[in-house]
Amino acid sequence: MPLTEDHIQRYARHILLPGVGGVGQEKLLAARVLIVGAGGLGSALTLYLAAAGVGTLLVADDDVVEPSNLQRQVLHNQSRLGQNKAESAAQTVAALTPDVTVRPIPHRLDATTAPDLIDSVDVVADGCDNFTTRLLVGDLCHRQGKTLVSAAVRQFDGQLATFKPDGPCYRCLVPEEPPPGGNASCTDAGILGSVAGTLGTLQATEVIKELLGLGESMAGRLLIYDGLNTQTRTITLPKDPHCPTCGTPAA
Ligand SMILES: [Zn+2]
Repeated sequence: MPLTEDHIQRYARHILLPGVGGVGQEKLLAARVLIVGAGGLGSALTLYLAAAGVGTLLVADDDVVEPSNLQRQVLHNQSRLGQNKAESAAQTVAALTPDVTVRPIPHRLDATTAPDLIDSVDVVADGCDNFTTRLLVGDLCHRQGKTLVSAAVRQFDGQLATFKPDGPCYRCLVPEEPPPGGNASCTDAGILGSVAGTLGTLQATEVIKELLGLGESMAGRLLIYDGLNTQTRTITLPKDPHCPTCGTPAA
């Protein structure tokens, strides 16, 4: 779809960018992204993808907005308490831009519902709060040939990686669900709200890079953010030859 005058005004600062231009903006407007989780990561991610004009966002979250979410989940606000987060995301984006359609998915993704949703998008971005969903989405993205941009946060730290169908996959990084009783989640360990925003914003940049084929993909690498010391490092993420999802089956 050619850009309208309104598009040219709204996305003028994108259109100036080398590698984006009008053609890149048209691609963004035609793009579809599945966002898993409308929490701390999903807030920054959804806001920046919507502001960038990524035309269709499928936002999946089965939770409702609670007072303790508002310290970091900037998609939501006081008047949305008790409302489903995916529905709240749709309302926030509708107020931001007429160019983006949010399709709210107000339930938790499972093996029945997730494959069709993943099939229908260009890129999947996971910022959810549980390893069951993360592993399910990681396995399905690998099997269905979709690029997955994944981020996680805890306390003052974060991680970011992109997984492509030729591996390594998410399960190479997290082979199985950590045993219960750990303090991996924000609920148990706490999270500085702005750290979730930092990682969600980095995730939005990686999604846009993947959609437009810009720069160097994070595939095969893991970025580690240490907020207290203001340091980042990037390590190579090896493919696990014995990974049950992407490894070679034993002969
Ligand atoms: Zn793997």
